[in-house]
Amino acid sequence: MATTHGILYIISAPSGAGKTSLVKALVDAVPQIRVSVSHTTRAMRPGEVDGVNYHFVSHEQFKAMLERSEFLEHAQVFDNLYGTSQRWLEQTLAEGYDLILEIDWQGAQQVRKLMPQAKSIFILPPTQEALRHRLTNRGQDSSEVIERRMREAVSEMSHYVEYDYIVINDDFAHALADLKSIFRANQLTQDHQQKRHAGLLSELLA
Ligand code: GDP
Ligand code: ADP
Repeated sequence: MATTHGILYIISAPSGAGKTSLVKALVDAVPQIRVSVSHTTRAMRPGEVDGVNYHFVSHEQFKAMLERSEFLEHAQVFDNLYGTSQRWLEQTLAEGYDLILEIDWQGAQQVRKLMPQAKSIFILPPTQEALRHRLTNRGQDSSEVIERRMREAVSEMSHYVEYDYIVINDDFAHALADLKSIFRANQLTQDHQQKRHAGLLSELLA
């Protein structure tokens, strides 16, 4: 039975800012962290795997989950529905893992209301041109979808003020180091250290 409860993180960014690549690199480097796999009605991209990138479901399946109140939060983004399953999230935090939700600003607002202790991080691209380049180079969306995502990017980015931390993803290694230091600093708070090192503290103070 874990003695510490994991920390919940919300990470948002405009599409193409590098959120998925950064989170993957972070999780590969830090074994303590898990990422929530959302449910979505979006079509699968080439290379995506059901149950890994997302749980890909039909509109009907999504609505049925909604009716059963299985989502902690959900939102419509670019005509698709996205949602975070509540049960897995609670189990994973209770096991002591830190947990990342890669969700949009609407979902972030819902989660902050329900779990005010969550820490939130917003990832920004270095320029609008870089964002367009990354969406184009990723090579997974049609030009109409890319234009739609570029139009939505400014309104998504205007929500950066609601977040605890801002990371600018210019140089990838630098942005990854910034992310790692946010996670490390949050494990070193008095509250967390007290729980993690309860034995040591009682010995030291005996
Ligand atoms: P990408 O971010 O460009 O790779 O495109 P996606 O289609 O994977 O995601 C589109 C948007 O949906 C992004 O802003 C995600 O943060 C958001 N999103 C993904 N999963 C969830 C979720 O479970 N809940 C909410 N609210 N948003 C989500
Ligand atoms: P998101 O999940 O935010 O939509 P991705 O992680 O899919 O973004 O990244 C979009 C594209 O940009 C990918 O092709 C990725 O390889 C690339 N990318 C990510 N970070 C950087 C960076 N710092 N410099 C250049 N390209 C990057």
